[in-house]
Amino acid sequence: MTATARRHRRELTPADVTKRFPSFRSGRMEAWQAESRDGVWRYGRIEITGTPWVVIHLPTKTEGDYYGTLTAARAATADGSALAYVERIQAHQRGEHEAERLPMCGRC
Ligand SMILES: [Zn+2]
Repeated sequence: MTATARRHRRELTPADVTKRFPSFRSGRMEAWQAESRDGVWRYGRIEITGTPWVVIHLPTKTEGDYYGTLTAARAATADGSALAYVERIQAHQRGEHEAERLPMCGRC
């Protein structure tokens, strides 16, 4: 692998699959829950078409954004975007609604 290719490869948060169940459609075993090795994030699958993974920030028990795949969710926790989303939600939970409107807030 060239240095350029390495630089552009996506970083993923190291995680272990913690629950596996057979897929309803194919019957094959699939991952349904995973947890980051640093203990900060839980990745859980939800049954909504197109958005099957949600991340949970465990230290604050805050549910974050939805991602299409476990790989996409692990990339978001690695690059800081998942934490940025959680911090926006926490600001609204503290009553800070002025900076920006958040559709899922329910109070602004
Ligand atoms: Zn709000």
